[in-house]
Amino acid sequence: MADNFLQQVMEESGQPVNLCYQCRKCSAGCPMVDEFDFPPNMVMRMIQLGQRDELLKSRAIWMCVSCETCGSRCPNEIRIAPIMDSLRAQCINEGVTPADPVTVALHSSFINSIKTFGRIHEATMLMAYKWKSKNFTSDIDVGLKLFLKGKIPLMPKKSKNMAKIKEIFKEAGK
Ligand code: SF4
Ligand code: SF4
Repeated sequence: MADNFLQQVMEESGQPVNLCYQCRKCSAGCPMVDEFDFPPNMVMRMIQLGQRDELLKSRAIWMCVSCETCGSRCPNEIRIAPIMDSLRAQCINEGVTPADPVTVALHSSFINSIKTFGRIHEATMLMAYKWKSKNFTSDIDVGLKLFLKGKIPLMPKKSKNMAKIKEIFKEAGK
């Protein structure tokens, strides 16, 4: 079971998780580590040990901002950002309740905007995010200021190359 999970994460992420020997350089440099419930080095160990259920329910997988600091510090060139992507995809595909639904709402609103328009359309993305997160009142003052300055256009503009965007999503299996 441990081997299956390890194998799956290595295949999906393209990263040699099996090479991690717990030097902790990744965790020492991670700017988000205070927000993680398990630091990056522990995430690596849990994958090696097959602790799939704990990881898919963890906050760590949603708090990684893909800054790639860990990858640049790792003596084994393990990049943790794509590993987190694999864990997030498994969480969503298997219907696990995420530890941080608000972050997931932001992720999915962002991706849906790209899928629909080929780029971000802030107004519809924010409406979708507010609806999914049920967080209707926060940042209204900032949003209003941006809108009044013309920074949040009402009408979306689609990318000229939507065929390519569709192709990318198809390839990613979305
Ligand atoms: S990519 Fe993620 S895990 Fe790695 S240092 Fe950045 S935030 Fe931390
Ligand atoms: S820096 Fe690399 S080898 Fe060291 S703990 Fe992190 S992932 Fe493992």
